[in-house]
Amino acid sequence: MRPISELVYTDRFVRELPGDPSRENRTREVLRSCYSHVTPTRVAKPELLALVPEVCELLDLDPRPTPELVDVLAGNRVVAGMTPYAACYGGHQFGNWAGQLGDGRAITLGEVTNRAGETWEVQLKGAGPTPYSRRADGRAVLRSSLRELVCSEAMFHLGVPTTRALSLALTGESVVRDLLYDGHPAYEPGAVVARVAPSFLRFGNYEIHTARDDHATLRTLVRFTLERFYPHHVHAGEPDIASFFDEVVRRTAFLVAEWLRVGFVHGVMNTDNMSILGLTIDYGPYGWIEPFDLDWTPNITDASGRRYRFGNQPAVAHWNLAKLARALAPLLPDPTALQRSLDAYVPELSSLHRHSMLRKLGLVAHLETAREDDELLLGLEQLLGAAETDLTIFFRRLAALDAGDAFATLRDAYYDGEATPAAARAQLGTWCRLYRARAAREGITDAERRERMNAVNPLYVPRNYVVQECIQATEAGDRTALAKLLDVLRHPYTEQPGAERYAAKRPEWARSKPGCSMLSCSS
Ligand code: AMP
Ligand code: MG
Repeated sequence: MRPISELVYTDRFVRELPGDPSRENRTREVLRSCYSHVTPTRVAKPELLALVPEVCELLDLDPRPTPELVDVLAGNRVVAGMTPYAACYGGHQFGNWAGQLGDGRAITLGEVTNRAGETWEVQLKGAGPTPYSRRADGRAVLRSSLRELVCSEAMFHLGVPTTRALSLALTGESVVRDLLYDGHPAYEPGAVVARVAPSFLRFGNYEIHTARDDHATLRTLVRFTLERFYPHHVHAGEPDIASFFDEVVRRTAFLVAEWLRVGFVHGVMNTDNMSILGLTIDYGPYGWIEPFDLDWTPNITDASGRRYRFGNQPAVAHWNLAKLARALAPLLPDPTALQRSLDAYVPELSSLHRHSMLRKLGLVAHLETAREDDELLLGLEQLLGAAETDLTIFFRRLAALDAGDAFATLRDAYYDGEATPAAARAQLGTWCRLYRARAAREGITDAERRERMNAVNPLYVPRNYVVQECIQATEAGDRTALAKLLDVLRHPYTEQPGAERYAAKRPEWARSKPGCSMLSCSS
């Protein structure tokens, strides 16, 4: 383990890709470039709120905070070997081409190669303006930075592909945000989150060059991407773009199926927020399904169109992949292969989703039970919609189902508790009988089924109101709440004595409270 100044820095992104010749940190269009050199802007008074030891380990970084490390993680110091930059990308936002976006407040400090030979990009978010900041300030507030840190680490421990979070630091400066976009701007504490991933490349990094007919830069970036992250799609020095795209399609389908498994709603699946590696990226107004609702979106900006609602994520990912295909098409003599991969997305996603839902029930797909399974899954969806049902608690309680009364076992999952209507109780009873009969055909005991189910159905997820409470405690000066929450979320599938409140149903006060059920992009 080494101090931050002694890590092994490589700067392949900067060395191998065309960069912006200007070093002027002024908002502008940046052409024929994948990035601009820019350094973080100093902050007044850094205070480290969290340093994640597992992520330090990925970098071979000594997890003991030193003044030097705190300075680096808040953006006040760049150590030798780092070549900080902001990436240039575009994107489709809410269905429309938005032109150049780019890292408006994220700055990659450098790439670290660890002893295992893995390379990790270390990026600060909220580190000050860049040439891509447009009219914004390049900063981030504590609440959204804490949300990013908590959720990316929770996702990792849930087994969902994601970028990681290394640290969270207060800047000692205030940032003005109009939380609900209703003309009430207020001062909030500023923060910087350091995040880590093999790469933060997004669909939008490719789209921008195609939109500008700059096929040379596009080609260089695609070659770089394959050589670095998809070397198995490079044959005799030639990138096989069609097979690379096919893998991106499959990874994206897997990612979305995983979001559905755990009840995650990204909230702003614009193409600039879609990772080329199939990772969950850019945690903004995301949310977790508490009462099951396919139509729920946490993002108030999305409240009218509901484009990014829970149940629409498979379709939006497909749409986004089509935009990526269009961006890559100019590099292929015959783009029909891209279309074939796009067409394969729908059956791939439904098969992944079906298997994952069966796994959530402790079942395995068998040919002879296929029809029965389809009916069971359809019945499950109807059941979950029949009365307000907590998705996470439902599956944990269902694991405990035995020959006894189904409602008594599952009561906790119902928001109305004892007041749950008789019709919904009856529906539950009927479905549970079918389910138990089907489970019996697996030839496993109730205990074995419970074990299977508890390994894929989390007990602890970063519930919207739980994270909001953690934000409020941290803002009020409590320096233990965040560490406690992170600790519980390290073992999301294991029941932890004393952690009951993190697994509890959303309380009534949180039903329509900003930060709990409604989130804004104002971050
Ligand atoms: P997002 O909706 O967070 O994915 O951001 C969309 C675009 O807006 C990206 O290019 C961001 O870098 C940029 N952006 C968001 N917030 C800020 C900010 N406070 N300052 C500068 N750029 C920002
Ligand atoms: Mg983004």
